[in-house]
Amino acid sequence: MAVPKNKTSKQRKAMRRSAVWRLDTPNLSACPKCGELRRPHTVCRACGFYNGRDVLQLEAASKKKK
Ligand SMILES: [Zn+2]
Repeated sequence: MAVPKNKTSKQRKAMRRSAVWRLDTPNLSACPKCGELRRPHTVCRACGFYNGRDVLQLEAASKKKK
């Protein structure tokens, strides 16, 4: 089994875990209904609109079916 030759310093560990490695932001596109930014292929969190219909409002109307 490979064993680390040197101790990883606090600074080096912090550098490895820092956010500079995850600078990419998620893709965002405007909702066609309300214009709110949302991630592609997801229901709009502002108005519940997805794929040409109000998905979340339909779920609220018929609570028995989940
Ligand atoms: Zn929307």
